[in-house]
Amino acid sequence: MTPLVPFVRSPDNGPNAALVDALCRAAPDLDVRVLGEIAPERLHEVTVAIADGPSEGQLARLPNLRLVQSTWAGVEAILPVLPAGVEVARMVDPRLAETMAEAVLAWTLHLHRDMPRYARQQRNGQWIVHELVHASHRRVGVLGLGVLGRAAVETLRDHGFDVTGWSRSPKSIDGVECFHDGLDGGGVDALLRRSDIVVNLLPHTEATTGLLGAAAFAQMPTGSSLINFGRGPTVDDEALLAALDDGTTSGASDTGSRVTGARLDRAHLEHAVLDVFVTEPLPEGHPYWSHPRVTVLPHVSGPTSAETAAVIAAANVRAFLVDGTLPADALVDRTRGY
Ligand code: NAP
Repeated sequence: MTPLVPFVRSPDNGPNAALVDALCRAAPDLDVRVLGEIAPERLHEVTVAIADGPSEGQLARLPNLRLVQSTWAGVEAILPVLPAGVEVARMVDPRLAETMAEAVLAWTLHLHRDMPRYARQQRNGQWIVHELVHASHRRVGVLGLGVLGRAAVETLRDHGFDVTGWSRSPKSIDGVECFHDGLDGGGVDALLRRSDIVVNLLPHTEATTGLLGAAAFAQMPTGSSLINFGRGPTVDDEALLAALDDGTTSGASDTGSRVTGARLDRAHLEHAVLDVFVTEPLPEGHPYWSHPRVTVLPHVSGPTSAETAAVIAAANVRAFLVDGTLPADALVDRTRGY
């Protein structure tokens, strides 16, 4: 009999017909159907489900569930609604890693070439030239050296940046200085202290919640910037706003027709590019929306590609149904939280 595989997505997220269609095309040997369209008397047949942001209670309707294949790389939203004893595989997709690395490069270049500052100057009608820093002198630190972090550091390195990374366990990546947690690893402070641009690609776990707070921002050099492409709760919003406002001299300085190398009107943190937030969509009236040193993106740095994610999800489900195996990098450690 063709295995019945429900596609589980919270009604609050609306339908995702493109992904369901792609799954049906990628898995003609599986009977993939939206959970709500499966007759209740057939739910006991299900051992594997594909989840695309499920809501509480949806997975609990499947009494014989053994595996949830997520279509997302981050699993913090699934873990709280996952029944006990059920394994979860996250999405590990080379296309996603490529897309994310491209976004990291694009926004690093944006900050590296001082674009937010020149945009502010244009709004004020100011013609001021700032000293150009060569990429080899621009220190970029990436938090998280997993599937996405590794692709990001390699892309940044290949574009000539001076790159470091930080992870829980030691890593060795050609041309990238790697710090890790633990006595001999240098810890996160070693990366923060020497980074002009910090890129967050950590998962949202208990350990990463609030990691980028006042103490972390104080370690970062004056004039440095943050890119958060991981998850919102890693950043303490109040502390970030304080660091972005710290040292600004309202109305002062960047005037004059041409000031080469001026370092005027600098805040402790120069700019933040934020793609992820504690509450999404970012609520109306949130200070980030109008802050001159913040770029708000609507969670777009690494979207799931229906085309490739469907093929990967189908292959994982198939392998698990045949012999209970999963790719090691896809299997989530529930106690670790990622
Ligand atoms: P991953 O392969 O699981 O890598 C996670 C990395 O973070 C690993 O290097 C891990 O260290 C490190 N890490 C975790 N907890 C840590 C801690 N407490 N201290 C130090 N390092 C820690 O995950 P991924 O596939 O790269 O994805 C990373 C995150 O990106 C996802 O969880 C998701 O939140 C986010 N994401 C965002 C978007 C977007 O559109 N904005 C899209 C996709 C994903 P070890 O290597 O030592 O385990």
